[in-house]
Amino acid sequence: MSRSAALLLSLCLSIPLAQAADPVLVIHGGAGVERGDLSAAEEKAARAALRQALLKGHQALAAGKPALEAVTTAITVLEDDPSFNAGKGAVFTHDGRNELDASLMDGSTLAAGAVAGVQRVRNPILLAQAVMQHSPHVMMVGQGAESFAASQGIALVDPGYFRTEKRWQQLQKALKEEAAGQAHADLETARHFGTVGAVALDAQGRLAAGTSTGGMTNKRYGRVGDSPIIGAGTYANASCAVSGTGWGEFYIRTAAAHDICARMQYLRQGPEQAGRAVINERIPALGGNGGAIVLSADGRAATPFNTQGMYRGWIGADGVPHLAIFADEPLPLPGQ
Ligand code: ASP
Repeated sequence: MSRSAALLLSLCLSIPLAQAADPVLVIHGGAGVERGDLSAAEEKAARAALRQALLKGHQALAAGKPALEAVTTAITVLEDDPSFNAGKGAVFTHDGRNELDASLMDGSTLAAGAVAGVQRVRNPILLAQAVMQHSPHVMMVGQGAESFAASQGIALVDPGYFRTEKRWQQLQKALKEEAAGQAHADLETARHFGTVGAVALDAQGRLAAGTSTGGMTNKRYGRVGDSPIIGAGTYANASCAVSGTGWGEFYIRTAAAHDICARMQYLRQGPEQAGRAVINERIPALGGNGGAIVLSADGRAATPFNTQGMYRGWIGADGVPHLAIFADEPLPLPGQ
């Protein structure tokens, strides 16, 4: 039943609506960002891209499109922007390549699609959507995923498209630290993430989640993080939607996105409590770090993180984007 039909029925019968939340979209552009990392121009560009992603995603929701479409629309904007570690601007592997991962989940049907280790797909989130909607599979990797992309008319690009000088220099720094045998070179690079993600609730009460990334700087050939793994970096069902960003190995080991949803579903925790338990307690207890965005079916949102910043924002029915980057920037969220 559409939301307007449900509203009419509830008015006629004078019964309260179970799903009366307004559509909402929440996005992230990665945890781990610190004030010293960004020039004024870079900060401005990142904020403009976040705003654009929110406005375009909101347009989809306002037009009555499914949550899934708001999620892919917002993520596509962020993949195309070099400010973030997804699509153009992805980080480099140890041997100087870009290997991209993405996943998408429709909470209303539990349908999911994911791709890992692709090197020529301009928008990996659109390939994840094609895997979900036009193949019998959930996850495809490497060259197989790329030939499927070609068969679906998904845009392929020369691998050089993803390269940015800033990410190249980050790899050079990580390689030097590694060569010098620096004790915690991995921790140094693990502070900076930049994966992108989105969660949305549409006018019919459907939830969806998606995540897209270049992974982690200096990762080994073939390493796959949490972002394309359903239940680790992305999860959505009828009660909640989650997209994570952080040190992926820890998100995989804790099944982080699914754990947040399970806490909401089985323990009746709200997004804030469930998000905090996983992001601020379980993951740091194992030595990991990062953040997540969480949305419930009644429109409550949380953006927990345990780093000095996380690019994040949300937009509700009024179409006004709300953004923050650093930990000390207030960002009042829907339902808080
Ligand atoms: N979670 C991603 C990974 O481990 C990195 C990130 O969030 O930026 O691949």
